[in-house]
Parts: sequence; structure tokens; C-alpha cells
Amino acid sequence: MTVVLILILLILIGLACVLIHRDWRLKYFSRPLYALFRRILPRMSDTEREALEAGTVWWDGALFSGHPSARALHAIPAPRLSDEEQSFLDHEVATLCAMVHDWQVTRQDLDLPVEAWDYIKTHRFFGMIIPKEYGGLGFSASAHSAVVTRLASRNSALSATVMVPNSLGPAELLLHYGTEEQKNHYLPRLARGEDIPAFGLTSPWAGSDAAAIPDHGIVCKGLWQGEEVLGMRVSWDKRYITLGPVCTVLGLAFRLYDPDGLLGSEPDIGITCALVPRDHPGVEIGRRHFPLDAMFMNGPTRGHDVFMPLDFIIGGPQRAGQGWRMLMECLAAGRSISLPASYAGMAQLTARAVGAYSVVRDQFHTRIHKFEGVIEPLARIGANTYLMDAARSMTAGAVDLGEKPAVLSAIAKYHVTERGRNVVNDGMDIIGGKGIILGPQNFLGRAYQQIPVGITVEGANILTRSLIIFGQGAIRCHPFVLAEMRAAQADDPEQGLADFDVAFWGHMRHAAGNKMRAIGHGWTGALLARPDTDVAPSMARYYRQLTRFSAAFATLAETSMLVLGGSLKRRESISARLGDVLSQLYLISATLKRFEDEGRQATDAPLAHWAIQDAFCRAQDAIDGVLGNFPNRFLACALKVLLFPWGRSFSAPSDTLSASVADVLCTPGAARDRLTRLAYVPDALEEPVGALESALQAVLDTQPLDARVREFEKSGQIPAGDPRANVRDIAEAVHAAGGLTDEEYERLRARNDLRDRVIAVDDFAPDFQGPSGSETRL
Ligand SMILES: Cc1cc2nc3c(=O)[nH]c(=O)nc-3n(C[C@H](O)[C@H](O)[C@H](O)COP(=O)(O)OP(=O)(O)OC[C@H]3O[C@@H](n4cnc5c(N)ncnc54)[C@H](O)[C@@H]3O)c2cc1C
Repeated sequence: MTVVLILILLILIGLACVLIHRDWRLKYFSRPLYALFRRILPRMSDTEREALEAGTVWWDGALFSGHPSARALHAIPAPRLSDEEQSFLDHEVATLCAMVHDWQVTRQDLDLPVEAWDYIKTHRFFGMIIPKEYGGLGFSASAHSAVVTRLASRNSALSATVMVPNSLGPAELLLHYGTEEQKNHYLPRLARGEDIPAFGLTSPWAGSDAAAIPDHGIVCKGLWQGEEVLGMRVSWDKRYITLGPVCTVLGLAFRLYDPDGLLGSEPDIGITCALVPRDHPGVEIGRRHFPLDAMFMNGPTRGHDVFMPLDFIIGGPQRAGQGWRMLMECLAAGRSISLPASYAGMAQLTARAVGAYSVVRDQFHTRIHKFEGVIEPLARIGANTYLMDAARSMTAGAVDLGEKPAVLSAIAKYHVTERGRNVVNDGMDIIGGKGIILGPQNFLGRAYQQIPVGITVEGANILTRSLIIFGQGAIRCHPFVLAEMRAAQADDPEQGLADFDVAFWGHMRHAAGNKMRAIGHGWTGALLARPDTDVAPSMARYYRQLTRFSAAFATLAETSMLVLGGSLKRRESISARLGDVLSQLYLISATLKRFEDEGRQATDAPLAHWAIQDAFCRAQDAIDGVLGNFPNRFLACALKVLLFPWGRSFSAPSDTLSASVADVLCTPGAARDRLTRLAYVPDALEEPVGALESALQAVLDTQPLDARVREFEKSGQIPAGDPRANVRDIAEAVHAAGGLTDEEYERLRARNDLRDRVIAVDDFAPDFQGPSGSETRL
């Protein structure tokens, strides 16, 4: 036995000597391994490489490292709006919201009102991302995100119309890649709304696989402004283009070819982005799609052999062929803001209005928010809204810090839209028929109807989860894998070997360290994973578990990449679940950060606890899913025993916690206001959300009177046969029988008027023409 141990020790010492000595390590290990890597690693296409390398790695890198630091998380500056941005949100955005009525837009005008369009243009809503030097508002990403959130809580056409020109489109592309001449010409016009932009990438044959667009341009000579110039003949057939029908300048992506070598380059130059004025001869534009009753402008555009000068290329001829890289780089910023903001806005509206409705509405002589069956979805709405806004704000904040978070923007897009879908669904369940009957009194039906739009755009959600989050994250956020891949594909094999040697052995040290920590934290229940800074005591457990789950995730990811290699790309279910773990860890980080940044508000704690416990549960489900479906069963069992020896650490949030969360939604006060701080809440009683707010307060104020009415009714003092002794008119009966003073009855009557407004739904003439019955009655 001793001899065997000595032998093992000698072998280990020998191995260590070889590994420490650079020349020996290169000769005996790195060189053969490098040769193997070069042989087996599939060559990446240009579009794959450009997508992978686009953007930056930020907090996702910390989660992938297996060792996220609480101090680093707290040190990320909390997003703040400047006075000017806050004032814009409070005044211009509120004014614009007040101009737009959902029913009028979606049913009557089928467009935003003319005065809203004018207001958007003159107040430079289209120029939020355009710097002041070009006449734009020069807003931070956080302000841009806050504006879209508030607009989305009012009307989808409003938010989509404002969001698109500020997102992935002509302005963003021009800012980063445009020539000075293009910037000076277009940016001031776009900022002032004199030009309306749209960007066309999607074609009928290439949706998710957008790099496969058949739209093309051929470099050739042609006539432009009376002179023969070098240009291109472009043909395209695009669909689903937002603002397309009303745009005055159309961004186009197409593949550019130079078969005659007129540019002196390759015949296949690659995807190219150009800006074409709407009135350019040959541009077909103007027809509309009808996207789920959302009335933002959206439609197809076509062109056949349209000649345009090379100057139309964004960034000029030297940017020909760089379109895909440009789009991928800009996608991260746009995706971090627009859709997370829109869905956070819808969630805030739901939390605010449905919470109030569940207090105002009673059935079985009970306010429905008291039923445990209703508390459950109310809790999901509240906690998800809290978490969604945390993710929205942290991701937009990353953009303000100069990041282009490629993976985190995909996580924010996918998870905020998915949770938004569930929040609105839960809201619809709670408000019952009130949500189903469309009309001016319905505050949620249109949001429900239009939920799939954001799920589909900027990377459809199934694709984003299955292919992007982990597929891109594993390579992009891992501290060494991208460096190894770059080394394996290097043109100079000697330099490649040197780079590979550094990356590979760094990788090995990193993986070994993570495995040890993951096992240690697993067996000790993360007792020793103490946060490296002061944290809220009630949240300390979550910081410890975040470290533990992060180390476990890094180990799982590493093992999956090792065992499945290139086939991981095709094993989308495994890849998606690994992405789910990474995503939940990000959402937990964002929630912890929000709680900390907002001063550890005790009244918000139930929201944070619920959201975090639920996210950990989801992370556990995803880990179980990976291990349960891992092709190597022995490894799967070994990992389960090593990383989670005591089984699951989190169970679903308790009923008591759910009740505390539901309370936040149903009780006017600071916690409810913070949760829904960006939702647009009108005052007017004619507005369903305005009426809800007043009715909520009135119901709470008259609770003691309601109790008296019930007691009086039970005491049998109402004369038998009084037809008013029913759920609607009982206060009148009690008043008539002397159980309420005139003043008390008047308060209940006013409250009942508000209640009736809130529960009213619309009815129409049989041909659905003319105003609704509620409009004329209320
Ligand atoms: C209202 C609206 C506005 C839009 N605005 C614009 C715009 O302004 N400009 C523009 O260029 N485009 C725009 N789009 C296009 C949008 O980006 C595409 O719809 C989107 O990329 C998906 O393409 P598709 O609809 O053709 O779906 P498909 O590509 O046909 O996808 C169908 C399904 O397959 C899934 N899928 C595809 N590939 C994979 C995979 N590898 N793994 C797993 N699942 C996969 C998708 O997730 C999806 O669920 C808009 C679309 C809509 C509906």
C-alpha cells in the first residue's frame, strides 16, 4: 500500500515538474493537444464568428466564473435618471400617454392620433439615443428604458412606435458606423422626426436564420443624379417591417456581390446595410400588416433591381460586407432596452390595476383578493413584476456603463418577455370576464392579445433560449473557451500554440478550482460561502447560495462542453436548460441588487424573497433537467451526488409569503408605488385605470361601514321582502331601515358608483358600430 502511494506521489511530482517547465509542457502536452484541437474543432463561418464575438461580457462573466462577488455586485452603480430625464418622464411622457386611448387607437383610428404623432416628433421622442450635438435628446439607456416602460403601460402602438427608431435601426447604425456626411444629414432629421426610420432585415425565407437572406445587391455602374457612378442593383422582399409603411428612410440588409470585381474585392462581399430614401425610384412601400390588433405601423417592402449609389451603404463603400457584424454589435444594446422595458411596463400596469380590481371586486360576500386561489396568481404577478424591473434596470444600466451585453441582453429579452406573458395571463385570470370583453373599459385585453409580438421579435424566444443564451454564453462568457477556439483557428500555428498553451492550462486550473468549490459548497450547504461585503441579513442566505449555484453551474457547463463537445449545439434541450440556470442566476443577482440599491426596504422584502426563492427553484429544476437527460448516466449520477448530496435546497415560496406579496398589490402605499413606479396611472374616472385607483381607495375607506352593513343585515332588521337586500343595493336597504346615517349612506353610494364603473364592461350595437353602451351610460 505504502509503495503504491509513494509511486502515485512520484508520478504526480513528475507530472507537476513537466507541467511547470514550459518547454516540456509544450512538447509533451500542449503541442499534441493543440494538434488534436485544430483537427476536431469545426471551422466557424464568418457569420457565426461575428455573432459570437459581438458585444461584451459583464456580470454574466462573474456567474460563469463560479465565483460572483457580492461586493462587485453592489459596486455596480445603481441606474439614476438626470433631472432633465426625470422631468421628461414626468411631463412629456405623461402628456403623450394622456393623448392616447387604447380603444380609440386599436379599434377606431387604427393608428395613433395625429396630435400624438406630432407630439412624438416635435418633442424628439425619436431622438432619445441621438446625441444633443445632432439635435437629439442624448438620453442614457436607463432613461430610454424608463420612457418605453411607461409608454408600454399605456398602449403598445405608442411604445413600439417610439422604441423602434431608438433601437436596432438606422439611427443606432449611423451613430456607430455612419460617415460624417451621413450622420450630419440624417441624425438631425431623425431626431426632429423629419425622417421616420425603419429597418428591413427579415425576409419570407429567412426569419430566425436572418443571415440567410436571399435579398441581394450586384455592384455595377449606373446613372445617379445625371452622372454615371459606381453603385449597386438591389433586389429585396422584406416583411414584418415596423414603421415600414410610414418610414421616409428605409434601412436595408442584403448580401452584396461583385461578380465583375469592380470594387476589386471578393465576388461575395457579404451582408451589407444601406439607407434608402422612401422616394427613391423603385422602392415599394406603404402596405400594412395587421399584427394582433396592435396598431403600430408594420408592413412589407419590396424592390427589384433598384439602382443606388455606393454612398447609400451605411459607413460608405468601406463598410460593404460588414453588415452582419454591425447588426450583431448593435443588437446587444437594443435588445437590452426595448423589449425588457415594454414587458416591464405591461407587468407594472397589471400589478397596479389587477391588485386594485381584486380589492374592488367581491363575490361570495368576500373581496376576491382574500381567496387563497386568487392570492396565488397575485403573488406571482407581484414578485415577477419586481424581478422583471430589476432585470430591466440592471441590463439597461450595463449599457450606460459602456457594455454591449450580448448574452445578458438575450437573457433579459427572453425572461422578461416570458414572465411578462405569465403576469398578464395571471391578471386576465383574476379579472375574469372583465378582461375578455373588449372595449374602452378593458384595461388588459389588448396587452394580453399582443403579448406574442415581443416573444417573436428580436430573436424569437424558443430560438433565444435554445440556441443563444447558453450557446453563445458558454463560449463568450467562459474565461478561456473563446481564447482556446481563437488559438485553434489561428493562421500562424506557432502563435496559436503559444496562445493555446496559456488558455488551456488556465482553463484546467479554473475548472479544477471550480469543481472543488462546487463540491465543498454542495456538501456544506454553502455555509462557508460568506458574502465578501455587508449584505441585508435576511438576504445573506441567497448570496451564499448564489455562489454555490454559480460554482455548480460552472462545473456542469464545463462537463457538458467536455462530454458533448460540438454536439451540444444540436442538443438544444440540454443547452436551453443550462441557459436557464445561468439566466436564473442573473435574475437573482438583479433582484438582490435592486433590494440593496433601494435601501433594503422592509415592505419590499416579501417581493424579493418570493422572486428569489422561485428563481432558485427554477434553477434547480433546470439542473435536474440537465442531469436527468445527460447522455452519460454515470457522470450524471456522480455529479448529482457530488454537487447536490442533500437534494434540493429550495422549495416553492410558502403560502404565507405569497399572502404578504399579494398584500403589497392590494394596499395603497410606498411599496405598491415603488413596484409600479413607471406605470402610467391617469386620474380621470372615465379611464378604467383611473377609476380603479379611486375605487380602491374608496373601498378601503368604507370597510368599517361595510362591516356594519353586514352585521345589520345578519341581525334581521331589514324588513322581509325588501328587494334591495341584494349584493348591489344592500346599503340602500340598510339605510332605509335606519342602519346607516345619511352621510354614511352617501359615502357608500359614492363608493358603489365607483365600483360599478370598475366592474362595467362594454356592449355595442349588433354591427359593432358607434360608441359602446358603457361610454354612454357612465
Ligand atoms: C410585429 C413584428 C414586427 C417585426 N419588426 C421587424 C422589423 O422592424 N425589422 C425586421 O427586420 N424584422 C422584423 N420582424 C421580424 C422578426 O424579427 C421575425 O419574425 C423573427 O426573427 C422570427 O422569424 P419568423 O417569424 O420568420 O419565425 P421562424 O424563423 O419561422 O421561426 C419559427 C419558430 O422556430 C423557432 N426556431 C427557429 N430556428 C430555431 C432553432 N435553431 N432552434 C430552436 N428554435 C428555432 C423560432 O423560435 C420560432 O418559434 C418583426 C416581426 C413581427 C411579427
